[in-house]
Amino acid sequence: MNPSIIQDSSRSIRKQAFVLSVFTVAALAALVGYSWYWNTNNIYNEKINLALTEARSNWNKDASLRRWAAHHGGLYVPPNERTPPNPALKHLPHRDVVTTDGQKLTLMNPAYMMRQMAEEFEEDFGVKGKVTGKLQLNPINKPDEWQLKVLNIFESGKTDEVYEQQMIDGQPYLRYMKAMYMTEGCVKCHGILGFKDGDLRGGVSVSIPLTRYFTAASETNDSVLFTHVSVLLVGVIAIIAFAWLFSRLLISTTNEALHDGLTRLPNIRLFKNRLEQSFKQYQRDPSSIFAVCFLDLDRFKNLNDSRGHKVGDKLLVSLSHRLSKLLRPGDTLARMGGDEFTLLLCDISSVDEALNITRRFLASFKEPFYIDNDEIYTDASIGICMVTDEYSDIEDMIRDADIAMYRAKSSGKGRVDVYSPEMHEYAMETMQIENDLRAAIQKGQLEVYYQPIVNVANSRIDGFEALLRWHHPVMGDVSPERFISVAESSGQIKEIGKWVLEQACVQIREWSLQFCLDNEFTISVNLSGTQLTEQGTQEMISEALRQSRLKPSKLHLEVTETALIGHKTYAKQAVKNIRELGVSISIDDFGKGYCSLAYLQEFEFDTLKIDKDFVQDMGVDGKGLQLVRVLMMLARDLDMKLIAEGVETEEQFNRLSAMKCPFIQGYYFSRPVSAEQVKAMLDEGCHINVNRLLKKNLPSQIVSQVASGPHQK
Ligand code: C2E
Ligand code: CA
Ligand code: CA
Repeated sequence: MNPSIIQDSSRSIRKQAFVLSVFTVAALAALVGYSWYWNTNNIYNEKINLALTEARSNWNKDASLRRWAAHHGGLYVPPNERTPPNPALKHLPHRDVVTTDGQKLTLMNPAYMMRQMAEEFEEDFGVKGKVTGKLQLNPINKPDEWQLKVLNIFESGKTDEVYEQQMIDGQPYLRYMKAMYMTEGCVKCHGILGFKDGDLRGGVSVSIPLTRYFTAASETNDSVLFTHVSVLLVGVIAIIAFAWLFSRLLISTTNEALHDGLTRLPNIRLFKNRLEQSFKQYQRDPSSIFAVCFLDLDRFKNLNDSRGHKVGDKLLVSLSHRLSKLLRPGDTLARMGGDEFTLLLCDISSVDEALNITRRFLASFKEPFYIDNDEIYTDASIGICMVTDEYSDIEDMIRDADIAMYRAKSSGKGRVDVYSPEMHEYAMETMQIENDLRAAIQKGQLEVYYQPIVNVANSRIDGFEALLRWHHPVMGDVSPERFISVAESSGQIKEIGKWVLEQACVQIREWSLQFCLDNEFTISVNLSGTQLTEQGTQEMISEALRQSRLKPSKLHLEVTETALIGHKTYAKQAVKNIRELGVSISIDDFGKGYCSLAYLQEFEFDTLKIDKDFVQDMGVDGKGLQLVRVLMMLARDLDMKLIAEGVETEEQFNRLSAMKCPFIQGYYFSRPVSAEQVKAMLDEGCHINVNRLLKKNLPSQIVSQVASGPHQK
C-alpha cells in the first residue's frame, strides 16, 4: 500500500510537536531552575543582610554605650572576682577610689566594661563582641588574624566597615568590624598609648552566629523549591497536553483539507498524491500496474433539480459508503466534486481485473438507495485508464479516464469503458458537438422528421413519431443518438426538446386541418429523461398545446424506461401530471433497460413500445419472439396500446401481424422523413392506405432521401 500523504503529514506533525515540546520543556526547566537559584540566592543574601543589620545594631549599641561611658569618665563598680581592678589602668591615679562611707570602688573604663558585657552577651545570645586595636592597653584586646587584616584596611582609609562570613569553631558566623576613632573621653585611658583625639584607635568586631539565619533560609528555601517543582510539573504537563491537542488539531485540519466535506472520502488533492506515488512506483517497477477510473453518476443533475440538493447529498453519502465497502485494501476512492468520483486501483494484473472491479461497482447500483423513506435508483458510467509507458503525467491519465467515462455515458450509460487513443478523437468531437449545438436552432440546422406509425388492422397510418435531425455544416447529418446525450449532459436538451415539441404540435395541427385527419391521428414526441423530471415541463407542454391549439389527446409523449430509473416516485408523479393535461404517455424501448414488468403496472402508461432489438431478434426460435409475445399479452391485459418498432422486413411484419400486433413502426413502411415528404404522403388522401404506400414504393424513395448521420450506419 502506498504510504499516504495523511500518514506522512500526521507523522511529521507528531514529530514536530514532540521536538517542540522537548524544547519547550527544556526551556521551562532552565527558567524554573534559574528562578529557583535566584530565589535561593536572594533568600540567602537577605539572611546575610539581616545578620549584618543585627551586627550593625550591636555595634551601634556598643558604640553608644562606650561613648556614654567615655563621656562620664568610666564606671566605678565595687571590685569583685569578675571585676577586679583593671591592671591595664593601673597608670591612672583614680583607678581605685574609696567612698566617704569607706566603700572601695574600681574604675571600669569603656573597653573593660564592654568586654565584660560582650562576654555575657555571648553567653546569653551567642554574639561575640570584641574591641581591638593595633596598640592596646590590655593584651586581651590583641587582634586576631582577620581583625588585623581589617585594621590594615581601616588604616588604608578605603572603608571603615568590613564584614565577611567565617567558620568559627566549626560554626558559620558573620564577622563584622567597624573602625573606632579617638574622642576626648578616650584620651584619659588611651592617651598613654600616644593616641590623640580623632585618631583611628582600632575597631569593634561583632560576630553573629549564622546557623539560625541559615535554618530560617533553608525553611523558606524548602517552600520555594516546592513551588518551583510544582510550577515545573504543571508546566510540563501543560506543554505535553498542549502539544498533543495542537498536533491532533493540526492533523485533523490536514485531514479536513484532504477529504471531501460531504462524503469524507479523499478529495482530489489526496487522490492525486496517491496517484503520483503509484506512478512513481510504476516507473521504478513496470510490473506494478495500476488503473485510474473516473465514475460519474448518470442523471444526477436531474435528481438534484427535481428532488433538491439535500436528497442529492444524502444519495452521494450513502453511495460513497456502499462503494467504499467494495474497495480492496490499498485502493482509493475519491470524490472530485459534484457527482464525479475517481478510483485508483493499485497492483492489478490486467485490464480485466479493473473491469471486474468496476463492474462490481455498477452491480451494486442495482440495489436501491433508501433516502428519506424513498427508494432511489441510480447508475453510473465508468471510464478506465490503464497506466502505460506513454504517460508522463498523472493529469493525462485522469483526463483519459474522464474521456473513457464520457464514452461509456454516451454509449448508453450504466457502462464501463476502457480508454483507447481513438476515444480522444471522440471526446474532441463531443466537445465540438456540444459547442456547435448551442447555435444549431438559431442557424436553422435542426429539422424534425416524421416516421409513420401504422395500424395493422386497417393498414392505415395512425400517426407519426417526431424524430430530430441535425444537419451539421461540416459533420453532415449527426445522429440524434449521438447528440441527444450530449445535449442531456450539457443541459441544452431543455431548449431543444421544447423546440421539437412546438414544431411537432404546430405541424400536426396544420396537417390535421389541411388533410382532415381523424381524431385517432396522433403525433408522438420523445421526451428525454432529464426533461421528464425537470421542473416546468408540464407548463412547457401545455404552452406548446395552447400555442398550436392542438388537442391534448392528439399528443403522445414517449419516455424511455431508463428515464424512470432512479427516481421512481418522482417520475411517477411527473407521468401523472402530464396525463392530467390529457396527453398520453408511451413507454419507449421497453425491455432494453432495467425496468421490471412491475413498472408497467405502477406507471400509468397508455402505450408500450417494444424495442427494435427484440423485433429484430424474432427469427425462428429467437428469444425476441417469446419476449414480444409476452409483452403483447401484458399490454393487452393492462389495456395498453402496443407498438412494435424497428420492423424492417416483410417477415417481421408478417410475424407481428400473425401475433395480432396492433401497431407497427419501421423502415418496412417508411424511414423517418421530412415534413415535405410527409405532406407528399398525405396528399394522396386523408385516409392513407399503407398497402398503397408500399405498392407505390414510396419508402424507397423516401429512404434514399433521408440522410443518416456519421454514426448511424
Ligand atoms: P427512438 O425514440 O427509439 O426512435 C426510434 C429510432 O429508431 C429512430 O432513430 C428511428 O429512425 C429508428 N428506426 C425506426 N424504424 C427503424 C427500423 O426499422 N430499423 C432501425 N434500425 N431503426 C429504425 P433516430 O431517429 O436515429 O433516433 C434515435 C433516438 O434518438 C431515438 O430513439 C430517441 O431516443 C432519440 N431522439 C430522436 N429525436 C429526439 C427528440 O426530439 N427528443 C429526444 N429526447 N430524443 C430524440
Ligand atoms: Ca421514441
Ligand atoms: Ca424507441
